[in-house]
Order: sequence, then C-alpha cells, then structure tokens
Amino acid sequence: MQNLIDSVWLEKLMEKQERQSKSHVLALPIPAQGHINPMMQFSKRLASKGLHVTIVIFSSKVTKHTRRLGSVEVVTVDFVSYEGKLSSDDYSKQFLAAVTRKLPELVAELNNSSGHPISCLLYDSHLPWLLDTARQLGLTGASLFTQSCAVDNVYYNVHEMQLKIPPEKLLVTVSRLPALSPLEITDLPSFVQGMDSESEYSFLLNHVVGQFSNFREADWIFVNTFTTLEEEAVNWLASQRSIKPIGPLIPSFYLDRQLEDDKEYGPSLFKPNPDGCNEWLDSKETGSVVYVSFGSMAALGEEQMAEIAWGLKRSDCNFLWVVRESERKKLPSNFVEESSEKGLIVTWSPQLEVLAHKSVGCFMTHCGWNSTLEALSLGVPMVAMPHWADQPTNAKCIADVWHVGVRVKANEKGIVTEKEVEGCLREVMEGERGNKIRRNSEKWMKLAKTAVDEGGCSDKNITEFAAELARKFHETKDSEV
Ligand code: UDP
Repeated sequence: MQNLIDSVWLEKLMEKQERQSKSHVLALPIPAQGHINPMMQFSKRLASKGLHVTIVIFSSKVTKHTRRLGSVEVVTVDFVSYEGKLSSDDYSKQFLAAVTRKLPELVAELNNSSGHPISCLLYDSHLPWLLDTARQLGLTGASLFTQSCAVDNVYYNVHEMQLKIPPEKLLVTVSRLPALSPLEITDLPSFVQGMDSESEYSFLLNHVVGQFSNFREADWIFVNTFTTLEEEAVNWLASQRSIKPIGPLIPSFYLDRQLEDDKEYGPSLFKPNPDGCNEWLDSKETGSVVYVSFGSMAALGEEQMAEIAWGLKRSDCNFLWVVRESERKKLPSNFVEESSEKGLIVTWSPQLEVLAHKSVGCFMTHCGWNSTLEALSLGVPMVAMPHWADQPTNAKCIADVWHVGVRVKANEKGIVTEKEVEGCLREVMEGERGNKIRRNSEKWMKLAKTAVDEGGCSDKNITEFAAELARKFHETKDSEV
C-alpha cells in the first residue's frame, strides 16, 4: 500500500516538475481567418518542440469552440467582428483598447491556472504596439509577419522612405529585389499603388507600413515563408535585422506529417458548408475541377461576379466555387440552376481538403498569402486574380517568378472578362503551358515539404526559438532559487 502511495506521489511530483519546467508562449493573432490560421500552425509547431502554448482569439465569431487543439490551449474573448460597419480606423482603436485592457488580466489568470508562467508574447505583426505590452509584462516580444517576404520588403522600403513611386507611375525598381524588379505599378501592394495621403487607402497604408514601426526592437521576427521560396527577399531583409522564416504554416498532414492529428487549422470564423464538397469532388475525374475562392474578405462587384460565372461556364470545366453568404446575391440570377450539372457553389469550403483532392486541377484564387502557400505546398497550379492589399505582388510571383500559374488581365474598366477567365483556365488546364506549370508546381511542393520537415530551414528556425525560450526560462528559474 505504502509503495502504491509513494509511486502515485512520485508520479504527481514528476508531473508537477514537467509542468513547471515549460516555457509558456501566449500567441495573439488579429481576428481574421487569414491571420488566425498561420498563428495557429506556428503555435502547434512550438508546442511540438516542448513549449506550452496558449492562443487567444478576440472574436465572438469563432464557430468551432474547442478549449484545446493538440497541445495548444485555445482561449476566446468576446469581441465584435469587423463587418465593415465602423471605419477600419475606429475598429483598430476599439481592438487596441480591448486587448490592452484584457491582456494583463489574462496573463495573470493563465499564470495561475496553467502552472506555466508566460514568458513570451507572440503577436501578429499588424499589432506592433503589443511589443510595449510585452515589455510592461516582462515578456519576450516576438512578431509574426503573415505576408510574403517580398511584400514585407516593399512595406519596409516605404517605411524607410526608400521606395518612391515615380510620377509617370510606370515601372518601379525595388533595388534590393532584382528578381522582382522592375515592377509595374500594378504589381505593388494596392495600398502602395495609390501612395498619397489623399487616397482612401491612406489609413491602411499607414497600418501595413506600421508593422515596421519597431521592427528593430522586437526580440524575434518570424515570417510565414520559406527561404528557398524567397531567398533573395529573405536575405535582403535579414541584412537589416535578424528574421526567421518558419513557413509554410499549414497543417502538418499536408507537408511533413510529423505532427499527430494536424489536418485542420482549427478555430474558424465561418460555418463549414453543409453541402458535401468531398462527395461531389469524388464524383469528378482526376484533374478536371477548377476550385474558385477569393478568401474570407474580398468583395467583388456584380459585373465582375457575372463575368467569372459566365467564364467558368464557357470553359466547360467542372468547378467548385466558394461564394460567401454576403456575396451570394451578386451571382447572376439564373446561374446556379444553369450550371448545376458542372458546378457546385458553397458558402465556405474545407479548402485544404479540396486543394488536396485529386480531381482538383487548378485554383482560381485572389492570391491571399495563405491560399498561395497552400496551393504551392500542395502542388496545385493557379489562375491568379488578385483583388487588393498584398495580392498583386503575390500574383506577380505566382506568374513570373515561381511560374506556377497565370495571371488574369483586367480590361480598361478594371474588369476581368468572361473571355479572359476562359482563356486563363484553358491555359492552365490544357496544353504545353499547363504542363510546364504543373511541373513547376511539383518542384515547389517538394521544397515546401523539405523546409518544414525535420532539419529543414524553417524547422531549424522554430527549434532555435523554442530552445532559446526554454534556456532563458530555466536561467530565470535557477536564478530565483
Ligand atoms: N479558407 C477556407 N475555406 C474557404 C476559403 C478560405 O478554409 O472557403 C481558408 C484558406 O484555407 C486560408 C484562409 O481561409 O487559410 C484565407 O486566407 P488568405 O490569406 O488566403 O486570404 P484572406 O481571407 O486573408 O484574404
């Protein structure tokens, strides 16, 4: 009996020691799907390296409520989601106030309840002011940049006043990015294209450039990319201060398969669509489906929606099109019925599963950075149809740097016509150009896997960070004894 009590006691003690010996990271994304997803994946990777990780999401819209995902704890805090009702400026101010008020409370609570004192605040680069909060709470401050490194370079150069748009607005040379230069004005992030204080985007321009406001001061800078994908851009930015590429941040199942049960990102702001995409895809021939999605935010005009709809119909391809609830009314009135034989329209898809499905031959995308990395990692050729923000630069890379897709051309009214949609789809789905694109896509897919696999360039950077946090944590603990 005594032996049993001793062994239970010993086990408890070991558990306690194990708990106490972990460094705890608190991760804080902005409450947008394209930001929650990579932060979630980074958190899972850190947890797999022995750290305790909690992610906190300020949103009342999280549909999949789970307290724990693998070894990552998920905390949600009620906060109104941005629905375009307030100006983005007001929304940002409200968000800042809510986070600044709640965070110290939350850190104290988690310190008590988890048994692992928080030692690092990992924040979205769009929230640079969190570095001050980290300092006030005595925490390491680490920033995650969720755009491509090329885009980071453009914003950084604007911040440093090194990038000027010539008055003729024709070609721009980002001198440190020879692989990308010269860029046409339409290849630049949209907020930079209209770079003047009168532009309606001036708030957003300040916001994205503000990511660099304390770039040199942050303890760590991480970028959701991988070195082999953007070697030049990574090397150049790294010459300004140390940066760590750690991507692609997508579930391990689709890359290295080292993390158990990591097939989905996790917390979602959108309800998954009930109409089974998978069953529908299963019924289609290999490589015959165009998957169409413009992400979680892009809002297209009615005319543009109609051109895409009729372009898909003209192409005669099978298509799976994500049209979010708020966009649905913009579809031509008879389109759903007229195209039901070839097409399925859903309000939200399990995108990774769809891209990995053998019947999907091409992804018509707005070139959001996560979607771009997902298609690259899964070897799916793209038709790039950028909308705004960083998407034009991603589209440039897709078409002219990595050669994994073609980019649509808009007409003089800024509309991509049905004929253009059809032509681009045919180029990727059929013929010699399509074959070349598919071969390139496979090449990048392999490189993406290598980057995150054990010992790969991104994996090494994550290991280094985890080891450094653990070392610092033990040092502090030892000095307290
Ligand atoms: N996504 C999804 N289902 C959809 C559309 C998008 O799961 O129907 C996911 C997609 O996999 C990606 C994220 O939402 O991880 C969108 O991020 P991205 O950077 O591509 O675009 P954003 O929404 O930020 O414009």
